[in-house]
Amino acid sequence: MAVLEIDNLQAKVAEDGGEQILEGVDLDVESGEIHALMGPNGSGKSTLAKVIAGHPAYEVTGGEVRFHIEEDEFEDIEVPADLQTWDLLDLEPNERAALGIFLAFQYPAEIEGVTMVNFLRTALNAKLEEREELFEDEDEEDEAEADEGGDTKEDAAGYDTSPMEGPADEGEVGVAEFQEILQAKMEQLDMDEKFANRYLNAGFSGGEKKQNEVLQAAILEPSVAVLDEIDSGLDIDRLQDVSQGINALRDEQGAGILQITHYQRILDYVEPDHVHVMLDGEIAKSGGAELAETLEDEGYDWVREEVYEAA
Ligand code: ADP
Ligand code: MG
Ligand code: MG
Repeated sequence: MAVLEIDNLQAKVAEDGGEQILEGVDLDVESGEIHALMGPNGSGKSTLAKVIAGHPAYEVTGGEVRFHIEEDEFEDIEVPADLQTWDLLDLEPNERAALGIFLAFQYPAEIEGVTMVNFLRTALNAKLEEREELFEDEDEEDEAEADEGGDTKEDAAGYDTSPMEGPADEGEVGVAEFQEILQAKMEQLDMDEKFANRYLNAGFSGGEKKQNEVLQAAILEPSVAVLDEIDSGLDIDRLQDVSQGINALRDEQGAGILQITHYQRILDYVEPDHVHVMLDGEIAKSGGAELAETLEDEGYDWVREEVYEAA
């Protein structure tokens, strides 16, 4: 169980006199929940996704983003009580990913000569290694502190045992093991096996790129995935495949999903538990799945009017 907790988040374009875009966003996404974030073009949806990811184009001007995980969040590492709440804004993008947040923009546009399978295995191992460092560094410090005032020989021995060698490699997912993981995920997503050996993004259609994005999320097994406009430009078949993949992230892996979308259409296939409307850099209204249908029929103007009347 994990919670991404966004509290009064404010952000501007990171340049002198850059436009203020996020005006105080409040939103909690828990693992196992599907949230749809809707809103007109230019309301700040993608900016929110990028700020969560730590994109350097934006500067946070206020508020907080915390990520809460539990002791048993990871199969292989027990999370100590003092490392169960993280201030996300203090972390590098790859550290955020290592804790279990998936953000699609980490997906590279095109890398020459790298096959999907190699890219995905590298991404998974990088995440595992980063995560080990996040938790191991702390372990080491704890040990060092505990050892202070103790036997100095043990200190020396402790420092000599470099965790960078050995354990890092031990934790790596090997080629054969990864093939099995990949195959299972691709079956889950109804993807053609040939996909795996194609070169990253070279000649992938828009729809295939989106499907790869969901595959990447399935491989990295995030606690919370932020998917920005993953439905844009998909034909109906591909939309259904991608939706099936998103549902599997939730149903089979227990991930929380923040699904950013301009159109109601994908929500026919990925039914949200919560729907939020963003207007002018704030969440102006939240509701259940029915809110998306009202928006489809009536647009965003009535929400804007409600906000003006309340002000
Ligand atoms: P949405 O995803 O809801 O369509 P965005 O977050 O992309 O909205 O953009 C919100 C507003 O902020 C828009 O007016 C956009 O032009 C502006 N904006 C976003 N990013 C930048 C940037 N890097 N530089 C300048 N303006 C930006
Ligand atoms: Mg809150
Ligand atoms: Mg956008």
